Amino acid sequence: MNYNKKTVKDIDVKGKKVLLRCDFNVPQDKATGAITDDKRIRAALPTIQYLLEQGAAVIACSHLGKPEPNFEKWVKKQTEKGKDPASLTKEKWEKSLAALSLAPVAKRLSELLGQEVVMAADVVGSDAKAKAAALQPGEIMLLENTRFEKGETKNDPDLAKAMAGMADIYVSFAFGAVHRAHAASAGVAAYLPAVSGFLIQQELEIMGGALANPKRPLVAILGGSKVSSKIGVINNLLDIADTIIIGGGMAYTFAKAQGGSVGKSLLESDWLGYCNDMIAKAKEKGVKLLLPVDTMAASEFSADAEPVLCDTMAIPDDMMGMDIGPKTIAAYTDAVKDAGTVIWNGPMGVFEFPAFAEGTRAVAKALADTDAITIIGGGDSAAAVAQLGYADKMTHISTGGGASLEFLEGKELPGVACLLDK
Ligand code: ADP
Ligand code: MG
Repeated sequence: MNYNKKTVKDIDVKGKKVLLRCDFNVPQDKATGAITDDKRIRAALPTIQYLLEQGAAVIACSHLGKPEPNFEKWVKKQTEKGKDPASLTKEKWEKSLAALSLAPVAKRLSELLGQEVVMAADVVGSDAKAKAAALQPGEIMLLENTRFEKGETKNDPDLAKAMAGMADIYVSFAFGAVHRAHAASAGVAAYLPAVSGFLIQQELEIMGGALANPKRPLVAILGGSKVSSKIGVINNLLDIADTIIIGGGMAYTFAKAQGGSVGKSLLESDWLGYCNDMIAKAKEKGVKLLLPVDTMAASEFSADAEPVLCDTMAIPDDMMGMDIGPKTIAAYTDAVKDAGTVIWNGPMGVFEFPAFAEGTRAVAKALADTDAITIIGGGDSAAAVAQLGYADKMTHISTGGGASLEFLEGKELPGVACLLDK
């Protein structure tokens, strides 16, 4: 995967119409529709301001939520959810779409930018086309929710062509969507010169750099709930890292595979062989693989459960592993001290429960204290670091949950591959 891609700074945007794929998939209050967190809108400001200052006209687009643009399919889905088919009117469906309009985002964006944001009534309809044609340098408009178009998630070339037809250049800003081969995140690049905005540039430089040419030693810390959801990440990092540290729920499948008793801990019996293969592969490649030696266990999955220290290989039958123990914390924090790069994906324990957040906190603190380049990938890991107050101490916290995992898997990302090489 080539991470060296052209950015907005590598092309002339003056007087050009720029189709800017943003990630305005913001959380909204269910009852009022009010935007509850505008972080994603704020994140786009530097790229938007740069483009406007350079004299580009910006046609922003984004998806929001999961609207169902096909009435019949909507009825089918709602019926499957147990709704009475008689109550499923066209009016209700239209209301469900209207609730996912980007109009509130246009309003918020306009407040943040301090200038008008022209809102289009559709994505590639007559209103969008007319407004795009009239847009002047230094002006910005927002297309309606791209998922109102049936062709968006299917990467329909006609939709991509219609979107591209309104602009001269495509700039991708939405790192959270680069793993999806959708019309607005990859398809349009077939018809326009395509470059990255500042956010994707940063993701590519730092995370791409760490994978392609890491400052060594490279330590990968992998945790989270399941081995099965991290197979791709483990496989890829085993080929690149000098040390791999395993924590979180998946550690118990490794412990069981090594002959341990793990009680009621999270266990994926289908992956025992895989765990042993990985341990063998690490040995063969000279990669240090660290597994937890002690565990904070509990008799039930609950915030009020009493933490009980035990040997990871000998967890009592009626207990489950919830966090790494003190000996493991000491070994893991020691391993990152002299690292050149640390990539962390997956919490060390059930950090949502304060009594079982210590392992995750200690690792976050060790990353905050080390001189190494520190990279956090994964939605829950990013949330954990922020919740524990270490977010500003990390070199880079990837903004795309699913996208950052696929990035760490070394997968070809359609929304990155479609950009022009440097
Ligand atoms: P990410 O989103 O960063 O990739 P994951 O989704 O893989 O991370 O895992 C996060 C979840 O793993 C958290 O909700 C956390 O509670 C859970 N988890 C961590 N350790 C354990 C454990 N020992 N038992 C059960 N769940 C765990
Ligand atoms: Mg997750």
